[in-house]
Amino acid sequence: MTSTIKSFYLRQAISGEGVFFWPVYEEKFRITHRAGRLLSPSKHGDTADLDSRPPFIVCAGKRKRYYAPLRSVPVLHRRFCLIEDGRAMVDFASRYGLLGFTAERVKYSRKGLPPAFLLAESTARWQFELNEMRRLIYLWDLVREGKDSTIASLICREDDGLYLKLDKPSQLIAAADSRLYRKWQLLGGRPREAASHYIIDRINERIGGYVRPQINPEHAGRIYLHPIRLLDAMWLMFMWEVMGEVRPVRCPICLEWFDSERSTRKTCSDRCRQRLSRLKRKSSRGKG
Ligand SMILES: [Zn+2]
Repeated sequence: MTSTIKSFYLRQAISGEGVFFWPVYEEKFRITHRAGRLLSPSKHGDTADLDSRPPFIVCAGKRKRYYAPLRSVPVLHRRFCLIEDGRAMVDFASRYGLLGFTAERVKYSRKGLPPAFLLAESTARWQFELNEMRRLIYLWDLVREGKDSTIASLICREDDGLYLKLDKPSQLIAAADSRLYRKWQLLGGRPREAASHYIIDRINERIGGYVRPQINPEHAGRIYLHPIRLLDAMWLMFMWEVMGEVRPVRCPICLEWFDSERSTRKTCSDRCRQRLSRLKRKSSRGKG
């Protein structure tokens, strides 16, 4: 996505006093089928039933510290999508926190002891959100790399609308009477543009109502963007990526994603930079 006039750089809306903070719990996370009795029901709309499905990622949730994900890890959506299994969920949660679908559960332990409270999030919820983001990022990567023929082979036109063949069965992405479908008719031979429209529509839908512009009373005249949950912050990061405000690159040494938008760095950290230069020295010595 390139725009000639950028009147408002979205990432400016995260620095300073109004920054979004998110808790990371210092107790150990684990995965369990028996997380005890639910104290408050999930309020997450038509996917709420996911939140009560075991197994759960749990922790005692007593000691926590806060960090600013939008500022310190603006490529977290990319790191999130690398999660392959329960163990990786636990690692991610210990490092960056829970997604924000957290429920408090109470577990009555041994007789005579006070009940133990746990913070829990369903792994089914994690898997659902992972699938959602991963398929869009996959499509976005095809757009970025200009793979028109692959995109064209994934999107097909049926009588009732456009279908995306990333999943099985393929998913309806635009009904025949919708704006996106009409756009697709116009962009018929340009699958990349059609796919971009779809991606942007989905991102708008995901952050709508979950990222709020606010004014900090002490810094009036500036707008701040406040996501509600960590998941929403990650969708915001994905939006930045699509707008070109974040440029995710993978470190050649440790394969971690980092943002190269404001630097010419080739690696994620000083440690990896040193390892890369050692490797380069080694290989040039090998040649000479
Ligand atoms: Zn690295």
